[in-house]
Amino acid sequence: MKSSHYSSATKGSEFEQTVKISETNVKEHFDVVVIGGGPGGTPAAIDLATSGKKVLLVEKSGKLGGACLFIGCIPSKIIKHSADEYYFGKERQSGATPSPEERDRYWAQIRSNMERILSSRSGAAYNGIQKLKNLTLVGGTARFISNHEVEIASSDGGNMRAEFDYGIIAPGTSSTIPPFKGNATGELLTSETIFSRDSVPESLVIIGGGPIGIELAQMFSRLDVKCTVIEVMDTILNGIVEPEFVSGITERLQRQGIDIFTSSRVSEVSRSHGKFSVAFSGPDGTTRTIISDQVLVSAGKKPNLDELNLGATDIMYTPKGIAVNEYLETSVNGIYATGDVINAPKFAHTATYEAHIVAANIMRGNSTRPDFTKNSWVLFSDPEIASVGYTEAEARRKGIDIVTGVYDYKIDAVTQINGDPFGYLKFVVDRRSSVIIGVHIFVKDAGAIVGEGALIVSRGLTLRDVADAIYPHPTLSEAYGYLAKKMIQEAAAKGAVRSDHPTRDSRTAQSSERETADSVQI
Ligand SMILES: Cc1cc2nc3c(=O)[nH]c(=O)nc-3n(C[C@H](O)[C@H](O)[C@H](O)COP(=O)(O)OP(=O)(O)OC[C@H]3O[C@@H](n4cnc5c(N)ncnc54)[C@H](O)[C@@H]3O)c2cc1C
Repeated sequence: MKSSHYSSATKGSEFEQTVKISETNVKEHFDVVVIGGGPGGTPAAIDLATSGKKVLLVEKSGKLGGACLFIGCIPSKIIKHSADEYYFGKERQSGATPSPEERDRYWAQIRSNMERILSSRSGAAYNGIQKLKNLTLVGGTARFISNHEVEIASSDGGNMRAEFDYGIIAPGTSSTIPPFKGNATGELLTSETIFSRDSVPESLVIIGGGPIGIELAQMFSRLDVKCTVIEVMDTILNGIVEPEFVSGITERLQRQGIDIFTSSRVSEVSRSHGKFSVAFSGPDGTTRTIISDQVLVSAGKKPNLDELNLGATDIMYTPKGIAVNEYLETSVNGIYATGDVINAPKFAHTATYEAHIVAANIMRGNSTRPDFTKNSWVLFSDPEIASVGYTEAEARRKGIDIVTGVYDYKIDAVTQINGDPFGYLKFVVDRRSSVIIGVHIFVKDAGAIVGEGALIVSRGLTLRDVADAIYPHPTLSEAYGYLAKKMIQEAAAKGAVRSDHPTRDSRTAQSSERETADSVQI
Protein backbone atom coordinates (compact mmCIF):
# COMPACT_ATOMS: atom_id res chain seq x y z
CA MET A 1 0.00 0.00 0.00
CA LYS A 2 1.42 3.32 -1.05
CA SER A 3 -0.19 5.87 1.25
CA SER A 4 -2.41 6.18 4.28
CA HIS A 5 -5.24 7.50 2.12
CA TYR A 6 -5.87 4.07 0.69
CA SER A 7 -7.14 0.88 2.25
CA SER A 8 -5.67 -2.43 1.23
CA ALA A 9 -7.03 -4.74 -1.42
CA THR A 10 -10.23 -6.54 -0.54
CA LYS A 11 -10.98 -9.96 -1.87
CA GLY A 12 -14.77 -10.28 -1.74
CA SER A 13 -14.75 -12.98 -4.34
CA GLU A 14 -11.67 -14.16 -6.16
CA PHE A 15 -12.75 -11.84 -8.93
CA GLU A 16 -12.53 -8.61 -6.98
CA GLN A 17 -9.39 -6.76 -6.22
CA THR A 18 -9.75 -3.10 -5.44
CA VAL A 19 -7.60 -0.57 -3.75
CA LYS A 20 -10.08 1.72 -2.10
CA ILE A 21 -9.84 5.37 -1.29
CA SER A 22 -10.45 5.20 2.43
CA GLU A 23 -10.87 8.93 3.04
CA THR A 24 -12.70 11.78 1.39
CA ASN A 25 -11.44 15.08 -0.01
CA VAL A 26 -7.82 13.94 -0.04
CA LYS A 27 -5.57 15.81 -2.48
CA GLU A 28 -2.24 14.45 -3.61
CA HIS A 29 0.30 15.27 -6.30
CA PHE A 30 1.61 12.65 -8.75
CA ASP A 31 4.14 12.83 -11.53
CA VAL A 32 1.75 10.89 -13.76
CA VAL A 33 -1.93 9.94 -13.58
CA VAL A 34 -3.05 7.09 -15.85
CA ILE A 35 -6.79 6.68 -16.43
CA GLY A 36 -7.77 3.12 -17.38
CA GLY A 37 -6.32 -0.21 -16.29
CA GLY A 38 -6.55 -1.94 -19.68
CA PRO A 39 -3.80 -2.73 -22.22
CA GLY A 40 -3.52 0.97 -23.14
CA GLY A 41 -3.02 2.20 -19.57
CA THR A 42 -1.42 -0.41 -17.32
CA PRO A 43 1.83 -1.03 -19.27
CA ALA A 44 2.53 2.72 -19.35
CA ALA A 45 1.91 2.99 -15.60
CA ILE A 46 4.32 0.10 -14.97
CA ASP A 47 7.07 1.54 -17.24
CA LEU A 48 6.83 4.94 -15.58
CA ALA A 49 6.71 3.65 -12.01
CA THR A 50 9.65 1.37 -12.74
CA SER A 51 11.62 4.36 -13.99
CA GLY A 52 11.02 6.17 -10.71
CA LYS A 53 8.00 8.36 -11.49
CA LYS A 54 5.30 8.62 -8.85
CA VAL A 55 2.30 7.17 -10.68
CA LEU A 56 -1.42 6.93 -9.93
CA LEU A 57 -3.35 4.34 -11.98
CA VAL A 58 -7.11 4.79 -11.81
CA GLU A 59 -9.39 1.95 -12.84
CA LYS A 60 -13.12 2.30 -12.69
CA SER A 61 -13.91 -1.40 -12.32
CA GLY A 62 -11.27 -1.96 -9.65
CA LYS A 63 -9.91 -4.86 -11.70
CA LEU A 64 -6.94 -4.74 -14.01
CA GLY A 65 -7.28 -6.04 -17.54
CA GLY A 66 -9.77 -3.80 -19.32
CA ALA A 67 -12.07 -4.90 -22.11
CA CYS A 68 -9.43 -7.27 -23.46
CA LEU A 69 -9.43 -9.41 -20.34
CA PHE A 70 -13.05 -9.19 -19.23
CA ILE A 71 -15.20 -8.85 -22.34
CA GLY A 72 -12.87 -9.05 -25.35
CA CYS A 73 -9.78 -10.97 -26.45
CA ILE A 74 -9.57 -13.53 -23.66
CA PRO A 75 -13.21 -14.51 -23.00
CA SER A 76 -13.91 -14.70 -26.72
CA LYS A 77 -10.94 -17.02 -27.25
CA ILE A 78 -11.89 -19.19 -24.26
CA ILE A 79 -15.37 -19.62 -25.73
CA LYS A 80 -13.98 -20.21 -29.22
CA HIS A 81 -11.66 -22.91 -27.88
CA SER A 82 -14.47 -24.64 -25.98
CA ALA A 83 -16.90 -24.28 -28.89
CA ASP A 84 -14.35 -25.96 -31.18
CA GLU A 85 -13.90 -28.81 -28.68
CA TYR A 86 -17.67 -29.25 -28.52
CA TYR A 87 -18.13 -29.04 -32.30
CA PHE A 88 -15.36 -31.50 -33.12
CA GLY A 89 -16.11 -33.69 -30.09
CA LYS A 90 -16.85 -37.37 -30.64
CA GLU A 91 -20.47 -37.12 -29.57
CA ARG A 92 -21.42 -34.36 -31.96
CA GLN A 93 -19.33 -35.77 -34.79
CA SER A 94 -21.16 -39.08 -34.40
CA GLY A 95 -24.36 -37.26 -35.33
CA ALA A 96 -25.89 -37.01 -31.86
CA THR A 97 -27.37 -33.56 -31.31
CA PRO A 98 -27.01 -32.57 -27.65
CA SER A 99 -30.25 -31.39 -26.00
CA PRO A 100 -30.65 -27.71 -25.06
CA GLU A 101 -30.13 -28.73 -21.40
CA GLU A 102 -26.84 -30.47 -22.22
CA ARG A 103 -25.73 -27.44 -24.18
CA ASP A 104 -26.59 -25.13 -21.29
CA ARG A 105 -24.63 -27.37 -18.93
CA TYR A 106 -21.67 -27.15 -21.27
CA TRP A 107 -22.08 -23.35 -21.43
CA ALA A 108 -22.08 -23.20 -17.61
CA GLN A 109 -18.78 -25.15 -17.60
CA ILE A 110 -17.30 -22.77 -20.18
CA ARG A 111 -18.30 -19.77 -18.08
CA SER A 112 -16.89 -21.19 -14.90
CA ASN A 113 -13.61 -22.02 -16.64
CA MET A 114 -13.63 -18.52 -18.09
CA GLU A 115 -14.09 -16.88 -14.69
CA ARG A 116 -11.24 -18.91 -13.28
CA ILE A 117 -8.86 -17.82 -16.06
CA LEU A 118 -9.93 -14.17 -15.97
CA SER A 119 -9.65 -14.01 -12.21
CA SER A 120 -6.22 -15.59 -12.23
CA ARG A 121 -4.91 -13.30 -14.97
CA SER A 122 -6.31 -10.16 -13.37
CA GLY A 123 -5.00 -11.27 -9.98
CA ALA A 124 -1.52 -11.86 -11.41
CA ALA A 125 -1.52 -8.36 -12.94
CA TYR A 126 -2.66 -6.92 -9.63
CA ASN A 127 0.01 -8.75 -7.64
CA GLY A 128 2.67 -7.53 -10.09
CA ILE A 129 1.52 -3.94 -9.68
CA GLN A 130 1.50 -4.18 -5.90
CA LYS A 131 5.25 -4.78 -5.96
CA LEU A 132 5.94 -1.38 -7.55
CA LYS A 133 6.48 1.04 -4.74
CA ASN A 134 5.99 4.15 -6.90
CA LEU A 135 2.67 3.01 -8.25
CA THR A 136 -0.67 3.58 -6.55
CA LEU A 137 -3.68 1.78 -8.01
CA VAL A 138 -7.11 3.03 -7.04
CA GLY A 139 -10.51 1.70 -7.94
CA GLY A 140 -12.64 4.64 -9.03
CA THR A 141 -13.90 6.77 -11.89
CA ALA A 142 -11.68 9.66 -12.91
CA ARG A 143 -13.12 12.98 -13.99
CA PHE A 144 -11.11 16.02 -15.06
CA ILE A 145 -11.58 19.26 -13.16
CA SER A 146 -8.83 21.11 -15.00
CA ASN A 147 -6.02 20.29 -17.44
CA HIS A 148 -3.82 18.87 -14.69
CA GLU A 149 -6.22 17.76 -12.00
CA VAL A 150 -8.70 14.89 -11.75
CA GLU A 151 -11.28 13.96 -9.17
CA ILE A 152 -11.71 10.26 -8.47
CA ALA A 153 -14.90 8.85 -7.04
CA SER A 154 -14.65 5.30 -5.79
CA SER A 155 -17.68 3.05 -5.82
CA ASP A 156 -17.71 2.82 -2.00
CA GLY A 157 -18.05 6.56 -1.44
CA GLY A 158 -14.42 7.66 -0.99
CA ASN A 159 -13.07 10.37 -3.23
CA MET A 160 -9.81 12.15 -3.87
CA ARG A 161 -8.23 14.75 -6.08
CA ALA A 162 -4.99 14.15 -7.88
CA GLU A 163 -2.82 16.84 -9.41
CA PHE A 164 -0.32 15.70 -11.97
CA ASP A 165 2.40 16.84 -14.35
CA TYR A 166 1.66 14.20 -16.98
CA GLY A 167 -1.55 12.34 -17.80
CA ILE A 168 -2.40 9.30 -19.90
CA ILE A 169 -6.01 8.79 -20.91
CA ALA A 170 -6.89 5.18 -21.82
CA PRO A 171 -10.58 4.61 -21.05
CA GLY A 172 -11.37 2.41 -24.07
CA THR A 173 -14.63 2.29 -26.00
CA SER A 174 -18.15 0.89 -25.61
CA SER A 175 -20.44 -0.82 -28.10
CA THR A 176 -23.13 1.30 -29.69
CA ILE A 177 -26.59 0.22 -30.79
CA PRO A 178 -28.15 2.18 -33.65
CA PRO A 179 -31.68 3.48 -32.98
CA PHE A 180 -33.61 0.83 -34.95
CA LYS A 181 -37.36 1.17 -35.29
CA GLY A 182 -39.33 -1.24 -33.11
CA ASN A 183 -39.71 -1.95 -29.42
CA ALA A 184 -36.57 -4.00 -28.79
CA THR A 185 -33.56 -1.69 -29.03
CA GLY A 186 -33.06 -1.75 -25.25
CA GLU A 187 -32.95 -5.56 -25.18
CA LEU A 188 -30.32 -6.21 -27.80
CA LEU A 189 -27.08 -7.94 -26.86
CA THR A 190 -23.58 -6.73 -27.63
CA SER A 191 -20.16 -8.36 -27.20
CA GLU A 192 -20.15 -6.72 -23.76
CA THR A 193 -23.20 -8.65 -22.56
CA ILE A 194 -23.37 -11.97 -24.41
CA PHE A 195 -20.57 -13.76 -22.53
CA SER A 196 -22.25 -13.29 -19.16
CA ARG A 197 -25.61 -14.79 -20.15
CA ASP A 198 -26.77 -17.84 -18.22
CA SER A 199 -27.80 -19.84 -21.26
CA VAL A 200 -27.17 -20.12 -24.97
CA PRO A 201 -29.98 -19.04 -27.31
CA GLU A 202 -31.35 -21.46 -29.90
CA SER A 203 -30.92 -18.81 -32.57
CA LEU A 204 -28.99 -15.58 -32.82
CA VAL A 205 -29.08 -12.77 -35.38
CA ILE A 206 -25.83 -10.81 -35.49
CA ILE A 207 -26.09 -7.33 -36.95
CA GLY A 208 -22.64 -6.48 -38.34
CA GLY A 209 -20.25 -8.71 -40.28
CA GLY A 210 -16.99 -7.17 -39.07
CA PRO A 211 -14.27 -9.11 -37.19
CA ILE A 212 -16.12 -9.31 -33.86
CA GLY A 213 -19.44 -10.24 -35.49
CA ILE A 214 -17.77 -12.99 -37.53
CA GLU A 215 -15.82 -14.44 -34.58
CA LEU A 216 -19.00 -14.51 -32.49
CA ALA A 217 -21.09 -16.03 -35.30
CA GLN A 218 -18.66 -18.87 -35.80
CA MET A 219 -18.16 -19.68 -32.12
CA PHE A 220 -21.89 -19.65 -31.29
CA SER A 221 -22.71 -21.59 -34.43
CA ARG A 222 -20.26 -24.25 -33.21
CA LEU A 223 -22.30 -24.41 -30.01
CA ASP A 224 -25.29 -25.34 -32.21
CA VAL A 225 -26.83 -21.87 -32.14
CA LYS A 226 -28.48 -21.05 -35.48
CA CYS A 227 -26.59 -17.87 -36.45
CA THR A 228 -27.50 -15.31 -39.09
CA VAL A 229 -25.22 -12.40 -39.98
CA ILE A 230 -26.68 -9.25 -41.54
CA GLU A 231 -24.11 -6.87 -43.02
CA VAL A 232 -24.82 -3.54 -44.70
CA MET A 233 -21.72 -3.60 -46.93
CA ASP A 234 -21.52 -5.82 -50.00
CA THR A 235 -19.24 -8.35 -48.26
CA ILE A 236 -18.47 -9.37 -44.71
CA LEU A 237 -15.09 -8.14 -43.36
CA ASN A 238 -15.30 -5.41 -45.98
CA GLY A 239 -12.09 -3.44 -46.44
CA ILE A 240 -10.50 -5.34 -43.55
CA VAL A 241 -9.15 -8.51 -45.14
CA GLU A 242 -7.70 -9.04 -48.59
CA PRO A 243 -10.69 -9.20 -50.98
CA GLU A 244 -9.56 -12.59 -52.32
CA PHE A 245 -9.90 -14.08 -48.81
CA VAL A 246 -13.49 -12.93 -48.41
CA SER A 247 -15.17 -15.51 -50.63
CA GLY A 248 -13.22 -18.32 -48.94
CA ILE A 249 -14.21 -17.34 -45.41
CA THR A 250 -17.80 -16.61 -46.46
CA GLU A 251 -18.07 -20.04 -48.04
CA ARG A 252 -16.60 -21.76 -44.94
CA LEU A 253 -19.03 -19.94 -42.62
CA GLN A 254 -21.98 -20.81 -44.84
CA ARG A 255 -20.88 -24.43 -45.00
CA GLN A 256 -20.97 -24.45 -41.21
CA GLY A 257 -24.64 -23.41 -41.37
CA ILE A 258 -24.33 -19.65 -40.81
CA ASP A 259 -26.68 -17.59 -42.97
CA ILE A 260 -25.07 -14.44 -44.31
CA PHE A 261 -26.96 -11.53 -45.83
CA THR A 262 -24.81 -8.76 -47.31
CA SER A 263 -25.84 -5.40 -48.80
CA SER A 264 -28.62 -5.64 -46.24
CA ARG A 265 -29.75 -2.87 -43.92
CA VAL A 266 -31.68 -3.60 -40.73
CA SER A 267 -34.63 -1.27 -40.37
CA GLU A 268 -36.59 -2.60 -37.42
CA VAL A 269 -36.11 -4.93 -34.46
CA SER A 270 -39.16 -5.86 -32.41
CA ARG A 271 -39.96 -8.34 -29.70
CA SER A 272 -43.13 -10.22 -29.02
CA HIS A 273 -43.96 -13.54 -27.32
CA GLY A 274 -40.31 -13.95 -26.29
CA LYS A 275 -38.95 -13.80 -29.86
CA PHE A 276 -37.22 -11.03 -31.78
CA SER A 277 -38.12 -10.18 -35.34
CA VAL A 278 -35.45 -8.43 -37.38
CA ALA A 279 -36.59 -6.69 -40.57
CA PHE A 280 -34.00 -5.77 -43.19
CA SER A 281 -33.93 -4.69 -46.79
CA GLY A 282 -31.69 -6.64 -49.16
CA PRO A 283 -29.80 -5.56 -52.30
CA ASP A 284 -32.91 -5.80 -54.47
CA GLY A 285 -34.86 -3.55 -52.10
CA THR A 286 -37.20 -6.24 -50.81
CA THR A 287 -37.74 -6.48 -47.07
CA ARG A 288 -37.23 -9.76 -45.21
CA THR A 289 -37.89 -10.64 -41.61
CA ILE A 290 -35.99 -13.17 -39.51
CA ILE A 291 -37.35 -14.49 -36.22
CA SER A 292 -34.72 -15.23 -33.60
CA ASP A 293 -34.27 -15.92 -29.87
CA GLN A 294 -31.67 -13.20 -29.44
CA VAL A 295 -30.17 -10.36 -31.45
CA LEU A 296 -26.60 -9.13 -31.03
CA VAL A 297 -25.36 -5.84 -32.45
CA SER A 298 -21.73 -5.59 -33.48
CA ALA A 299 -21.93 -2.47 -35.55
CA GLY A 300 -19.77 0.16 -33.95
CA LYS A 301 -18.05 1.50 -30.87
CA LYS A 302 -17.92 4.88 -29.22
CA PRO A 303 -15.04 6.28 -27.19
CA ASN A 304 -15.62 6.30 -23.40
CA LEU A 305 -15.50 10.07 -22.97
CA ASP A 306 -18.72 10.88 -21.14
CA GLU A 307 -17.42 10.39 -17.60
CA LEU A 308 -14.12 12.17 -18.22
CA ASN A 309 -15.59 15.69 -18.23
CA LEU A 310 -13.17 16.81 -20.93
CA GLY A 311 -15.12 20.06 -21.14
CA ALA A 312 -13.12 21.17 -18.08
CA THR A 313 -9.92 20.88 -20.11
CA ASP A 314 -8.42 22.03 -23.40
CA ILE A 315 -8.20 18.44 -24.64
CA MET A 316 -9.65 18.20 -28.14
CA TYR A 317 -11.71 15.26 -29.28
CA THR A 318 -14.06 14.17 -32.06
CA PRO A 319 -16.76 11.47 -32.23
CA LYS A 320 -13.91 9.09 -33.18
CA GLY A 321 -12.04 9.76 -29.96
CA ILE A 322 -9.36 11.92 -28.42
CA ALA A 323 -7.24 13.82 -30.93
CA VAL A 324 -3.49 13.16 -30.62
CA ASN A 325 -0.38 14.24 -32.51
CA GLU A 326 2.31 11.94 -33.90
CA TYR A 327 3.69 11.42 -30.37
CA LEU A 328 0.22 10.47 -29.09
CA GLU A 329 0.06 13.73 -27.13
CA THR A 330 -3.28 15.51 -26.87
CA SER A 331 -3.84 19.22 -27.44
CA VAL A 332 -2.69 19.77 -23.84
CA ASN A 333 1.07 19.52 -23.29
CA GLY A 334 2.01 16.51 -21.21
CA ILE A 335 -1.36 14.75 -21.56
CA TYR A 336 -1.35 11.71 -23.83
CA ALA A 337 -4.02 9.25 -24.95
CA THR A 338 -3.66 5.59 -25.91
CA GLY A 339 -5.65 2.54 -26.91
CA ASP A 340 -9.10 2.31 -28.38
CA VAL A 341 -9.96 5.90 -27.40
CA ILE A 342 -7.74 7.31 -30.17
CA ASN A 343 -8.30 7.02 -33.89
CA ALA A 344 -5.85 4.16 -34.51
CA PRO A 345 -6.11 0.38 -34.95
CA LYS A 346 -8.17 -1.05 -32.09
CA PHE A 347 -6.34 -4.07 -30.71
CA ALA A 348 -4.98 -4.95 -27.30
CA HIS A 349 -1.39 -5.35 -28.52
CA THR A 350 -1.60 -2.04 -30.41
CA ALA A 351 -2.85 -0.31 -27.25
CA THR A 352 0.11 -1.79 -25.34
CA TYR A 353 2.55 -0.69 -28.06
CA GLU A 354 1.16 2.83 -27.73
CA ALA A 355 1.37 2.66 -23.93
CA HIS A 356 5.12 1.91 -24.08
CA ILE A 357 5.64 4.73 -26.61
CA VAL A 358 3.83 7.25 -24.44
CA ALA A 359 5.76 6.18 -21.35
CA ALA A 360 9.02 6.67 -23.30
CA ASN A 361 7.88 10.09 -24.51
CA ILE A 362 7.08 11.15 -20.95
CA MET A 363 10.43 9.90 -19.66
CA ARG A 364 12.63 11.21 -22.47
CA GLY A 365 10.61 13.97 -24.13
CA ASN A 366 8.65 13.45 -27.33
CA SER A 367 10.95 11.34 -29.47
CA THR A 368 9.09 8.14 -30.35
CA ARG A 369 6.29 7.92 -32.90
CA PRO A 370 4.07 4.90 -33.49
CA ASP A 371 4.16 3.33 -36.93
CA PHE A 372 0.75 1.81 -37.53
CA THR A 373 1.73 0.72 -41.05
CA LYS A 374 3.44 -2.23 -39.34
CA ASN A 375 0.52 -3.24 -37.14
CA SER A 376 -0.53 -6.88 -37.01
CA TRP A 377 -3.76 -8.63 -36.07
CA VAL A 378 -5.57 -11.97 -36.18
CA LEU A 379 -9.18 -12.78 -36.93
CA PHE A 380 -9.80 -15.91 -34.87
CA SER A 381 -12.13 -17.56 -37.37
CA ASP A 382 -11.63 -21.05 -38.74
CA PRO A 383 -9.51 -20.88 -40.83
CA GLU A 384 -7.85 -17.89 -39.18
CA ILE A 385 -7.02 -14.74 -41.08
CA ALA A 386 -3.96 -12.81 -39.98
CA SER A 387 -2.36 -9.71 -41.32
CA VAL A 388 0.61 -7.38 -40.94
CA GLY A 389 1.34 -4.08 -42.60
CA TYR A 390 -0.04 -2.77 -45.84
CA THR A 391 -2.89 -4.50 -47.59
CA GLU A 392 -2.58 -4.46 -51.38
CA ALA A 393 -5.34 -1.85 -51.61
CA GLU A 394 -3.76 0.44 -49.00
CA ALA A 395 -0.36 0.27 -50.68
CA ARG A 396 -1.89 1.12 -54.06
CA ARG A 397 -3.91 3.98 -52.52
CA LYS A 398 -0.66 5.38 -51.10
CA GLY A 399 0.90 5.23 -54.56
CA ILE A 400 3.55 2.67 -53.56
CA ASP A 401 4.80 0.71 -56.55
CA ILE A 402 4.17 -2.84 -55.41
CA VAL A 403 4.24 -6.40 -56.59
CA THR A 404 2.27 -9.14 -54.86
CA GLY A 405 2.77 -12.88 -54.63
CA VAL A 406 0.66 -15.72 -53.27
CA TYR A 407 1.56 -19.16 -51.91
CA ASP A 408 -1.30 -21.65 -52.17
CA TYR A 409 -1.46 -23.90 -49.10
CA LYS A 410 -3.16 -26.52 -51.30
CA ILE A 411 0.34 -27.86 -52.08
CA ASP A 412 1.55 -27.61 -48.49
CA ALA A 413 2.70 -30.66 -46.51
CA VAL A 414 1.19 -29.52 -43.20
CA THR A 415 -2.26 -28.64 -44.53
CA GLN A 416 -2.35 -31.95 -46.44
CA ILE A 417 -1.33 -33.88 -43.34
CA ASN A 418 -3.98 -32.03 -41.32
CA GLY A 419 -6.62 -32.98 -43.85
CA ASP A 420 -7.55 -29.46 -44.93
CA PRO A 421 -5.28 -28.47 -47.82
CA PHE A 422 -6.58 -24.94 -48.05
CA GLY A 423 -5.24 -21.45 -47.51
CA TYR A 424 -3.04 -18.65 -48.79
CA LEU A 425 -0.01 -16.62 -47.82
CA LYS A 426 0.28 -13.31 -49.62
CA PHE A 427 3.16 -10.83 -49.69
CA VAL A 428 2.87 -7.18 -50.64
CA VAL A 429 6.33 -6.07 -51.69
CA ASP A 430 7.79 -2.66 -52.51
CA ARG A 431 8.97 -3.22 -56.08
CA ARG A 432 12.02 -0.94 -55.95
CA SER A 433 13.51 -2.00 -52.65
CA SER A 434 12.20 -5.58 -52.52
CA VAL A 435 11.11 -4.90 -48.91
CA ILE A 436 8.09 -6.92 -47.78
CA ILE A 437 5.58 -4.32 -46.54
CA GLY A 438 2.53 -6.57 -46.09
CA VAL A 439 1.97 -10.18 -45.05
CA HIS A 440 -1.54 -11.64 -45.20
CA ILE A 441 -2.37 -15.20 -44.22
CA PHE A 442 -5.56 -17.21 -44.51
CA VAL A 443 -5.04 -20.72 -43.20
CA LYS A 444 -5.88 -22.81 -40.14
CA ASP A 445 -3.61 -21.53 -37.32
CA ALA A 446 -2.53 -18.43 -39.25
CA GLY A 447 -2.23 -16.67 -35.89
CA ALA A 448 0.59 -19.01 -34.90
CA ILE A 449 2.79 -17.89 -37.81
CA VAL A 450 1.85 -14.23 -38.22
CA GLY A 451 4.39 -13.14 -35.60
CA GLU A 452 7.09 -14.03 -38.10
CA GLY A 453 5.39 -11.74 -40.60
CA ALA A 454 5.31 -8.99 -37.96
CA LEU A 455 9.08 -9.32 -37.54
CA ILE A 456 9.68 -9.33 -41.31
CA VAL A 457 7.61 -6.17 -41.82
CA SER A 458 8.81 -4.32 -38.74
CA ARG A 459 12.49 -4.98 -39.55
CA GLY A 460 12.03 -4.08 -43.22
CA LEU A 461 13.28 -7.47 -44.48
CA THR A 462 13.52 -8.12 -48.21
CA LEU A 463 12.47 -11.12 -50.26
CA ARG A 464 16.12 -12.22 -50.32
CA ASP A 465 16.38 -12.05 -46.51
CA VAL A 466 13.35 -14.32 -46.20
CA ALA A 467 14.40 -16.62 -49.05
CA ASP A 468 17.79 -17.14 -47.37
CA ALA A 469 16.34 -18.29 -44.04
CA ILE A 470 16.35 -22.04 -43.34
CA TYR A 471 12.78 -22.98 -42.47
CA PRO A 472 12.02 -26.28 -40.73
CA HIS A 473 10.01 -28.81 -42.69
CA PRO A 474 7.15 -29.61 -42.49
CA THR A 475 5.74 -26.45 -40.92
CA LEU A 476 3.23 -23.81 -41.91
CA SER A 477 5.93 -21.14 -41.82
CA GLU A 478 8.13 -22.67 -44.51
CA ALA A 479 5.62 -21.06 -46.87
CA TYR A 480 7.42 -17.77 -46.16
CA GLY A 481 10.60 -19.12 -47.73
CA TYR A 482 8.82 -20.79 -50.66
CA LEU A 483 6.92 -17.63 -51.51
CA ALA A 484 9.98 -15.38 -51.28
CA LYS A 485 11.96 -17.71 -53.57
CA LYS A 486 9.05 -17.99 -56.00
CA MET A 487 8.69 -14.21 -56.23
CA ILE A 488 12.44 -13.78 -56.83
CA GLN A 489 12.40 -16.49 -59.52
CA GLU A 490 9.33 -15.02 -61.23
CA ALA A 491 10.93 -11.60 -61.31
CA ALA A 492 14.18 -13.09 -62.64
CA ALA A 493 12.26 -14.91 -65.37
CA LYS A 494 10.88 -11.56 -66.46
CA GLY A 495 14.44 -10.26 -66.61
CA ALA A 496 13.53 -7.76 -63.98
CA VAL A 497 15.85 -8.70 -61.19
CA ARG A 498 19.42 -7.68 -60.43
CA SER A 499 21.90 -10.45 -59.78
CA ASP A 500 22.64 -8.83 -56.39
CA HIS A 501 19.04 -9.01 -55.31
CA PRO A 502 19.30 -7.04 -52.05
CA THR A 503 19.16 -8.15 -48.47
CA ARG A 504 18.24 -5.67 -45.76
CA ASP A 505 21.91 -5.16 -44.90
CA SER A 506 23.06 -4.64 -48.48
CA ARG A 507 20.19 -2.20 -48.97
CA THR A 508 21.47 -0.14 -46.09
CA ALA A 509 25.02 -0.24 -47.42
CA GLN A 510 23.96 0.59 -50.95
CA SER A 511 21.24 3.06 -50.18
CA SER A 512 22.68 5.69 -52.50
CA GLU A 513 22.79 3.19 -55.34
CA ARG A 514 19.21 2.23 -54.56
CA GLU A 515 18.08 5.82 -54.79
CA THR A 516 19.30 6.03 -58.36
CA ALA A 517 18.45 2.52 -59.49
CA ASP A 518 15.78 2.61 -62.13
CA SER A 519 15.64 -1.09 -62.83
CA VAL A 520 12.69 -3.05 -61.55
CA GLN A 521 14.13 -5.50 -59.09
CA ILE A 522 11.39 -8.06 -58.73
C1 LIG B 1 -15.35 -9.35 -28.37
C2 LIG B 1 -14.00 -8.70 -28.52
C3 LIG B 1 -12.92 -9.47 -28.89
C4 LIG B 1 -11.67 -8.88 -29.01
N1 LIG B 1 -10.63 -9.67 -29.38
C5 LIG B 1 -9.40 -9.13 -29.50
C6 LIG B 1 -8.29 -9.95 -29.84
O1 LIG B 1 -8.42 -11.16 -30.01
N2 LIG B 1 -7.07 -9.37 -29.94
C7 LIG B 1 -6.89 -8.02 -29.74
O2 LIG B 1 -5.77 -7.55 -29.85
N3 LIG B 1 -7.93 -7.22 -29.42
C8 LIG B 1 -9.17 -7.74 -29.29
N4 LIG B 1 -10.22 -6.94 -28.93
C9 LIG B 1 -9.97 -5.49 -28.74
C10 LIG B 1 -9.33 -5.18 -27.37
O3 LIG B 1 -10.15 -5.69 -26.34
C11 LIG B 1 -9.15 -3.68 -27.22
O4 LIG B 1 -8.47 -3.18 -28.34
C12 LIG B 1 -8.35 -3.32 -25.97
O5 LIG B 1 -8.97 -3.81 -24.81
C13 LIG B 1 -8.24 -1.79 -25.85
O6 LIG B 1 -7.49 -1.47 -24.71
P1 LIG B 1 -7.70 -0.06 -23.97
O7 LIG B 1 -6.78 -0.07 -22.81
O8 LIG B 1 -7.65 1.04 -24.92
O9 LIG B 1 -9.22 -0.08 -23.45
P2 LIG B 1 -9.96 -1.08 -22.48
O10 LIG B 1 -9.41 -2.42 -22.54
O11 LIG B 1 -11.41 -0.89 -22.77
O12 LIG B 1 -9.63 -0.52 -21.02
C14 LIG B 1 -10.13 0.71 -20.60
C15 LIG B 1 -10.26 0.68 -19.08
O13 LIG B 1 -10.54 2.01 -18.63
C16 LIG B 1 -11.49 1.96 -17.59
N5 LIG B 1 -12.14 3.28 -17.54
C17 LIG B 1 -12.97 3.84 -18.47
N6 LIG B 1 -13.31 5.08 -18.10
C18 LIG B 1 -12.69 5.32 -16.93
C19 LIG B 1 -12.67 6.44 -16.03
N7 LIG B 1 -13.33 7.58 -16.30
N8 LIG B 1 -11.94 6.32 -14.90
C20 LIG B 1 -11.25 5.19 -14.61
N9 LIG B 1 -11.25 4.12 -15.41
C21 LIG B 1 -11.95 4.19 -16.56
C22 LIG B 1 -12.42 0.81 -17.99
O14 LIG B 1 -13.08 0.28 -16.86
C23 LIG B 1 -11.44 -0.18 -18.61
O15 LIG B 1 -10.97 -1.12 -17.66
C24 LIG B 1 -11.49 -7.49 -28.77
C25 LIG B 1 -12.58 -6.71 -28.38
C26 LIG B 1 -13.83 -7.31 -28.25
C27 LIG B 1 -14.99 -6.46 -27.82
